[in-house]
Amino acid sequence: MNEKKMINHTGSCICGEIKFTVNLDEKPRIFTCHCVDCRKKLGGIATIIQLREGALKVDESKLSKHTHNGGSGKTITKFFCKVCAAPLTTYVEKWKVSYLYAGLLDSISSLQSAKNIFYDESHFPFIKINENETIV
Ligand SMILES: [Zn+2]
Ligand SMILES: [Zn+2]
Repeated sequence: MNEKKMINHTGSCICGEIKFTVNLDEKPRIFTCHCVDCRKKLGGIATIIQLREGALKVDESKLSKHTHNGGSGKTITKFFCKVCAAPLTTYVEKWKVSYLYAGLLDSISSLQSAKNIFYDESHFPFIKINENETIV
């Protein structure tokens, strides 16, 4: 096992009902998703951070959830604040991975790069991205 340096972050939703801490890698895997599901769920594109198991500490009793079928036929579940509906995480059954909506972090200055996904399939025509941008 190679020792990863983990950094503890804090975050909250807009109404403050959800407060959480999360351990992220120094360079976490971050994706900006242009897919139709995110568009319909959130009204626009979403920037999400792949979480390691157990990385997120949150009072789950304060969350609501909504499950739908993804393109693979497996489920995708979005967890969000019961009060203000801010999205906290999405769980993708196909990958057995949870992703944190990056915008809920109190500080976003350490998020240096994100990989654009589902850009070719679906994106707002006015959003131009640098195709050479890679996640490191
Ligand atoms: Zn998406
Ligand atoms: Zn809230």
